[in-house]
Amino acid sequence: MGVARFALCKMASSLLPRMHRPSALRQMSVAADLKNSTIFRSQGLIGGQWVAAHDGKTLQVNNPSTGEIIADVPFMGRRETNDAISSAYEALNSWSKLTAAERSKCLRKWYDLIMSHKEELGQLITLEQGKPLKEALGEVSYGASFIEFFAEEAKRVYGDIIPATLADRRLFVLKQPVGVVGAITPWNFPLAMITRKVGPALACGCTAVVKPSELTPLTALAAAELALQAGIPPGVLNVVMGNASDIGDALLASPQVRKITFTGSTAVGKKLMAGAAGTVKRISLELGGNAPCIVFDDADLDVAVKGVLAAKFRNSGQTCVCANRVIVHEGIYEKFAEAFSKAVQNLQVGDGFTEGVVQGPLINEAAVQKVESFLQDALSKGAKVILGGKRHSLGMTFYEPTIVTDVKTDMLLAREEVFGPVAPLLRFKTEEEAIRIANDTNAGLAAYIFTSNVQRTWRVSEALEYGLVGVNEGIISTEVAPFGGVKQSGLGREGSKYGIDEYLELKYVCLGDMNRK
Ligand code: ADP
Repeated sequence: MGVARFALCKMASSLLPRMHRPSALRQMSVAADLKNSTIFRSQGLIGGQWVAAHDGKTLQVNNPSTGEIIADVPFMGRRETNDAISSAYEALNSWSKLTAAERSKCLRKWYDLIMSHKEELGQLITLEQGKPLKEALGEVSYGASFIEFFAEEAKRVYGDIIPATLADRRLFVLKQPVGVVGAITPWNFPLAMITRKVGPALACGCTAVVKPSELTPLTALAAAELALQAGIPPGVLNVVMGNASDIGDALLASPQVRKITFTGSTAVGKKLMAGAAGTVKRISLELGGNAPCIVFDDADLDVAVKGVLAAKFRNSGQTCVCANRVIVHEGIYEKFAEAFSKAVQNLQVGDGFTEGVVQGPLINEAAVQKVESFLQDALSKGAKVILGGKRHSLGMTFYEPTIVTDVKTDMLLAREEVFGPVAPLLRFKTEEEAIRIANDTNAGLAAYIFTSNVQRTWRVSEALEYGLVGVNEGIISTEVAPFGGVKQSGLGREGSKYGIDEYLELKYVCLGDMNRK
């Protein structure tokens, strides 16, 4: 049984860095309660057993809001990953042979357990990822929705009968599980990025080896504990973490792993895609974005401000669908900038457990330094900060919600994902120019437009080279719609009736000699 080496309680409250003490104390008690919870795990899960790394090495999980150590988890590598793959492979035969209704029941139970532990899971997300508790609770519901949806979808994996080309033949198409799936996930949605992959995989009979981000493994482990409690058999879901590239390489090298599904940076995604060639594996990639948010002069200003605010500042700007470029018609540029500033300056920054906080810390120091370097680049090329623009007085990795005007298309802020609470405002004159600016990137995940013109809605939605388009809406992800990018934002779709296809192989069966007596 995995017992966390909880360091929090050892820490004298007087040592707590630049933070409101009541909030810090509250966190300590939340952490202590979580430690005693039945869902708290701090070891890897292989073949239904909670295990340490073979050499006993561990890595620390820190709270980004305070820097405190929450727990130590095993620092695993190739050996443990190969064990996990063997367990998943062994479990595959019996799990895939269950009826869809039986697998569906297990998943439904897992969903119910996640929802009945919503509060604890939300707290765990806030503790290790930093997002405000309300947003973390939202992630639990969102994450759970994939399990519920695919529990239902499990029963609808229909094959086909094809009209035969010869009288004595019958032609069928079967849909069968791909096999063992390696799922590699990031830290910005510690639960939902896992359920979005594991839900459809398990629903159709695959088994999985999950590697969560080393920054946020505790939510993944808690979810895995609930999967065991739901009766999902040992080996069907395994979790390893530690040396990311060694784990990734073991998953890629194994001929038993038939599919890699990944959410994370474009750079790592490309490596995985190249690595999958060695054993010719299926691969789904959900990579970086560079989301444009086009505000036309016919937009309802309140709707646009609200929508851009949500699209930009969710999770402090740390999602791949966050608005990265706000492209505003020159006729309303100043008016929009003013109204947007008024809204942004009300965003309360602080520890995610503090009531009213809507902006947590950035995940780590490297994230803050990236924001600073992008901003420096923009300022050196003539952009202006009209709000924020520096680290927050709370210290740690808190950053002020920031608006930058006079941003040009050659600035880093417009070319790459800033992944932080910085909204760069660009200007356009015509619809054609807005579309050209929006599409002038290798990324193609989410795009947003704000307009009251129906014809324009269709025209621009069709012209945007993106996998998702939000019209007059800044938050559009849902389990019932396909999520995924075009161009270098990735391959494949997650969620919806299409999401399960990523985990299925088609098999054509030709039945001959039908008329033989
Ligand atoms: P981010 O910048 O969001 O952390 P990454 O792509 O670095 O994005 O991380 C996403 C996931 O990919 C994490 O689980 C991380 O540990 C994992 N990862 C990073 N490098 C590799 C690698 N070489 N092979 C496999 N997984 C990796």
